[in-house]
Amino acid sequence: MNVVRAERRRKIIHIDMDAFYASVEQRDDPGLRGRPVAVGGSRERGVVAAASYEARKFGVRSAMPSVTAKRKCPGLIFVKPRFDVYRAVSQQIRAIFAEYTPLVEPLSLDEAYLDVTENLKAIASATAIAEEIRARIRAETGLTASAGVSYNKFLAKIASDERKPDGLFVITPRRGPAFVEGLPVGKFHGIGPVTRAKMEALGIRNGGDLKARTSSFLQEHFGKAGPYYFRLARGVDDRPVSADRVRKSIGAETTFGADLFTAEEARAAIEPLVGKVWSYCEASTLRGRTATLKAKYADFRQVTRSRTVDAPVASRAVLEEIISALLEPLFPAGKGIRLLGVTLSSLEVDSEPRDGRQLRLPL
Ligand SMILES: [Mg+2]
Repeated sequence: MNVVRAERRRKIIHIDMDAFYASVEQRDDPGLRGRPVAVGGSRERGVVAAASYEARKFGVRSAMPSVTAKRKCPGLIFVKPRFDVYRAVSQQIRAIFAEYTPLVEPLSLDEAYLDVTENLKAIASATAIAEEIRARIRAETGLTASAGVSYNKFLAKIASDERKPDGLFVITPRRGPAFVEGLPVGKFHGIGPVTRAKMEALGIRNGGDLKARTSSFLQEHFGKAGPYYFRLARGVDDRPVSADRVRKSIGAETTFGADLFTAEEARAAIEPLVGKVWSYCEASTLRGRTATLKAKYADFRQVTRSRTVDAPVASRAVLEEIISALLEPLFPAGKGIRLLGVTLSSLEVDSEPRDGRQLRLPL
């Protein structure tokens, strides 16, 4: 299928701490180890925030009312959450991630996607990176994490769940499509109980059933999500790992000693800013799809103009061209410009092949 071939091969890791809050409590209180623990309120209206694996054996789940949990597991020990401790552990694991890649997208305190297609340690195998990260998390926090390794976010997340707890699972591009075919639709991330029920009523129980439906059929029944499901059914998911929470943008700006009035002056002033932004791109291997020009006038009024392109801006010349095009309509300027800024956002790691670097390495 061409859709699959056309997808740029990426190496994505999904890391997920095992029974996070409950494991932290068991780590810090030896009396809780090996026992069924629920983090959350035990009161009448309390809800389980996290359950230890011992508690899960009794059917205790997160988001379950505490009364139900107690009924299922009479020996259940309730522990009050200590979010400051969970946040501290979260910072520890994020610091570990940051040593491997700037492209980290946290989903919660204990879960994140990492794009390691290009990584700071130049390790070719994403599986090796995932194992290293798991070992370091264990050594530095005393806790276990599971990892999923694949070529997109959708599959990496499913993979991390396959060998929990303390496990690792890889879904290679070769195995991806078959894996999705056998996957019950309820296990698709983003398909909740309502959509699942609707799909089952249409005879769609797994990825294979989903794949057998046309895009227009799916669109007709699921609206905008239809084409997305169509692609997921083929193991295709182009969503980038968005490192927005790590680094939102690369920007440079200058306030001028004397206000600028002409387009020529502005173009000359913008050139070093583009250069600054671009050299950061080069150094970090980050590339962006959204270029933004900011202008502040002498009266402190400010305008921003942005353009988002389909593929990450690939050269300094292209960035300059986009910024110049955004600059043109600001002239003739009624008043002087005191500040200009250039920003690149919607960042992702550049994985254009160069220097013969092998990119289609096995996961
Ligand atoms: Mg978790």
